[in-house]
Amino acid sequence: MNDSGPGAEDTKYRPDTVAVTAGRPPATAGQPMNVPLTPASNFRAGTAEAPVIEYSRDGGTATWHALEDAVGALEGGTALAFGSGMGAAAALLDLLPTGAHVVVPTDSYAGVRALLADGAAHGRWKVTIVDITDTAATKQAAWAADMLWLESPSNPMMEVADLPELCQFGRSTGALVVVDNTFATPLGQRPLDFGAQLVLHSATKFIGGHSDLLLGIAVTNDFELAGRLATRRKLGGAAPGALECFLALRGLRTLAVRLARSQESAGILARRLQEHEEVSRVRYPGLVDDPWHDRAAAQMNGFGAMLSFEVAGGAEAADLVCATLRVLVSATSLGGVESTIERRAKLAGQEHVPPGLLRLSVGIEHVEDLWTDLDRALTGAASGY
Ligand SMILES: *Cc1c(COP(=O)(O)O)cnc(C)c1O
Repeated sequence: MNDSGPGAEDTKYRPDTVAVTAGRPPATAGQPMNVPLTPASNFRAGTAEAPVIEYSRDGGTATWHALEDAVGALEGGTALAFGSGMGAAAALLDLLPTGAHVVVPTDSYAGVRALLADGAAHGRWKVTIVDITDTAATKQAAWAADMLWLESPSNPMMEVADLPELCQFGRSTGALVVVDNTFATPLGQRPLDFGAQLVLHSATKFIGGHSDLLLGIAVTNDFELAGRLATRRKLGGAAPGALECFLALRGLRTLAVRLARSQESAGILARRLQEHEEVSRVRYPGLVDDPWHDRAAAQMNGFGAMLSFEVAGGAEAADLVCATLRVLVSATSLGGVESTIERRAKLAGQEHVPPGLLRLSVGIEHVEDLWTDLDRALTGAASGY
């Protein structure tokens, strides 16, 4: 976290440009154009008159700040990097007093749901689970909540919450509204603009973009919350690594072109999968007949690079599809340059997910190679080879 927050400089450019220009060092002839990697835990001590940050866990290094400045500029707030998305999620939940009431979507990241269940089992907080697509039911569940946790589009069901409405509702009741923005990316959606106080990213995914790091980012436009999150990071210890921050900023520099390509391919694949006879349902908000298409179109910039589809032959056929793909990688996680596919119902805490549902993270390979691979594997699985 840099106290200067997003630079006024950065706000006058379009997001694709900000992703490239934000978080650079001051323009000095002969100096590096980008902030160098600084692997440092401790710094020379200051004096009582001129105190400095002496230990990186207390406030970070220039390498952290460069990434934080860039993500903060894109989201319109102050960003803090953590050692993982879950590290950031835990810090957000640690803002709550003991006994707090948290409302969370049925379909949301399994790790967050597990963390919430664990805390509930230990008497840390009370959790209510809601269908986040049902705005009226969500409001009813959350009218006296301390935190409304939103994830949109959601992992892996691709459900879309009415973010402007629910963020305003949280404001009016005094709940802290968190939006997990991992699927949309900072270029696809700006929850702070809708009134959310807190945004979460697993920068492990699209921001890093190359499946080579673990990193989380929390963003807020509330000065007091930013200070409390910095304290959580310092005391909880979920500090990011220098190399991870360096690589994540390097990833962010190309996010706009990666996302444009992946998103376009996701739309093409979603439409073709819809026509495929071995596919019973496709979930992608970019499809005009998707139940959440209009909602997503109103609040997102593009529809993202994630989609899910159900294999007509069920779990067994879906596993066979994963096992026979050659270009797409059968693997967990998402947001990398490589397309990854996973049958989510095989994981714990995913009982609400149809058994034959495959979650697809569309990478930047040529879309025709992706389609040929998918079509062949689907047709092959149907014949049971
Ligand atoms: C991966 C993920 C997380 C957790 O992030 P890690 O970096 O794996 O700790 C949280 N939310 C969503 C939506 C994710 O996909």
